[in-house]
Amino acid sequence: MKEENHTFLEFPSRSANEGFARAAAACFAAQLDPTLEEVNDVKTAVSEAVTNAIVHAYPDTLGKIVLKLRILRDNVLEVVVRDWGVGIADVEQARTPLFTTGSQERSGMGFTIMESFMDTVRVRSTPGKGTTVTMRR
Ligand code: ATP
Ligand code: MG
Repeated sequence: MKEENHTFLEFPSRSANEGFARAAAACFAAQLDPTLEEVNDVKTAVSEAVTNAIVHAYPDTLGKIVLKLRILRDNVLEVVVRDWGVGIADVEQARTPLFTTGSQERSGMGFTIMESFMDTVRVRSTPGKGTTVTMRR
């Protein structure tokens, strides 16, 4: 069992920061000696959650996004992506495959991908206050 460890990043909702957040999560996860497949799964899930915060949470402004990374007991990695944006009115609907409020290029598969690549995905959201996505693997 590894000692507990944690870190966090704060960045504005600029699209350039999606790759930064994804790479940072992979670097942090490296201490767990993950397989290539495990690292790729985490990167994909982080990418989807951070992209959502960039694209949906702050549609007309730049806002704050926080990525928290934590190692729990038994080599479990916890990833938290938090924003203080518009929030989600109906989380269950938002998590439905193919549901999107986005434009043509969005497929509505982000939450479905997070669910399939991580062991647990919890979404807390309040309209007007923001969204917190907590994932474990
Ligand atoms: P894709 O991820 O396939 O490009 P998408 O982002 O629309 O498309 P999901 O990631 O599954 O699909 O998200 C579904 C919907 O949930 C979004 O269309 C948006 O309405 C809402 N949503 C998701 N994340 C947030 C967020 N952080 N803030 C506000 N709304 C969000
Ligand atoms: Mg998405």
